[in-house]
Amino acid sequence: MIVVISSKAGEKEKTAIIEKLTAKGYSVDYIEGTEKILLGAIGENIKNRESVMASLQTMPGVEKVMPILKPYKKVALEFNPQRTIVKLRDDIEIGGDKITIIAGPCAVEGEKEIIETAVALKKLGVQILRAGAFKPRTSPYSFQGFGLKGLKMLAAAGKETGMMVVTEVMEPRQVKQVAQYADILQIGTRNMQNFDLLRECGKSGKPVMLKRGMSATIEEWLLAAEYIVNEGDNDVILCERGIRTFETHTRNTLDLNAVASVKQLSHLPILVDPSHGTGLRDLVAPMARASIAAGADGLIIEAHAHPEQAVSDAQQTLGMKDLSALMKDLRHISKAMGRTL
Ligand code: PEP
Ligand code: MN
Repeated sequence: MIVVISSKAGEKEKTAIIEKLTAKGYSVDYIEGTEKILLGAIGENIKNRESVMASLQTMPGVEKVMPILKPYKKVALEFNPQRTIVKLRDDIEIGGDKITIIAGPCAVEGEKEIIETAVALKKLGVQILRAGAFKPRTSPYSFQGFGLKGLKMLAAAGKETGMMVVTEVMEPRQVKQVAQYADILQIGTRNMQNFDLLRECGKSGKPVMLKRGMSATIEEWLLAAEYIVNEGDNDVILCERGIRTFETHTRNTLDLNAVASVKQLSHLPILVDPSHGTGLRDLVAPMARASIAAGADGLIIEAHAHPEQAVSDAQQTLGMKDLSALMKDLRHISKAMGRTL
C-alpha cells in the first residue's frame, strides 16, 4: 500500500506510522521526490490487510492510504509517480527528458574491431556501447562469444572512447565478473525468468537492463523486474525486444503496445531494441522512429563499422551511414516528443 503523510505531520507522528507498519509485518520504503512524503509498504501474507489499512487511516499524520492492486508493487507507477531516472554518469542518464541511444555489434569480435566500431559510434553521438561477450546462441555450434577476454576488450573500447558499456550476463555465477567490466548488466530475453540471475544482478550494485522474455506477458516482465528491485537495486531499465507470434516474415514482432502500456503501469524507463524486434536491417530505422514516437526512453541498436562482416546477427545490423541518417531523424522526433537526444 501507499501511505500519504500529511505535510503537517511531525517526526513523532511519522515514526509512529512506520512503527505500526513494521509491527504488522510490512517493510517500508520512502518514495522520494514527490511534494508529499509517501511511504510504500510491502508485506507478504499479511492477515487482515483491510483492517490494518483502516486503522492506519485514523492515525494522526496520515492523509490517505491507497492499496497497490497490481501483483507487482515496487515497480508500479503508484510507487514512484515521479518516475525513475537511471543516472549513469553526470552526462548520461536513461529516463526523464533524455532519449538515450545505445549501439554496437551483437558480439565483441576482437579488440581492434570493437574499438573501430566504438570510435565510429562516438562520432555519431552514441554514448553507450553494446556488445556481447557471453552470447546466448540458439545453436551450440554458433560462436558463443569471447567470454572474459571479450569483457576486457569491451571495457578497453569503453575506456578508449569514454563510452559506457552494456553487456549480457547469462548465469548467476558470472555476475560479479561481468559487473567488474560493465556499466550496465544486460539480462537477455531467454533469461527473463531466471530468478536466481535476477536476484544476483539485483545485488550487484549495477544498473540492470532487463529484456522482455520472447513469450512473456507485460505482467510477467514487470514481476521479473520486481525481483531485481527487491534486492535493493532501483536502477532497472526495461527493454522491449519483440515477442514470438505466428508471423515469420520478421524475426520477432516488435510490441510497441508494450511501450505505451509500460508507461501507464510502471515508473521504470523503457528502451526498445528494433534490431532483434525485426531481425531485418531495412526495418530497424522505421521501427526505431516509431518507438520514440510511442514514448520509449531510448533505443539499443545493433551497429557495426562493417555490418556485412558481423559474426552474428549481420542481417539486422546497421552500418554507420544508416545509423547516422537514423540519428538525424531521431533528433527531430525526440524534439517533437518534447525530449532531447
Ligand atoms: C542481444 O542483445 O544480442 C541479444 C541476444 O538479445 P535478446 O536477448 O533480446 O535476444
Ligand atoms: Mn544480437
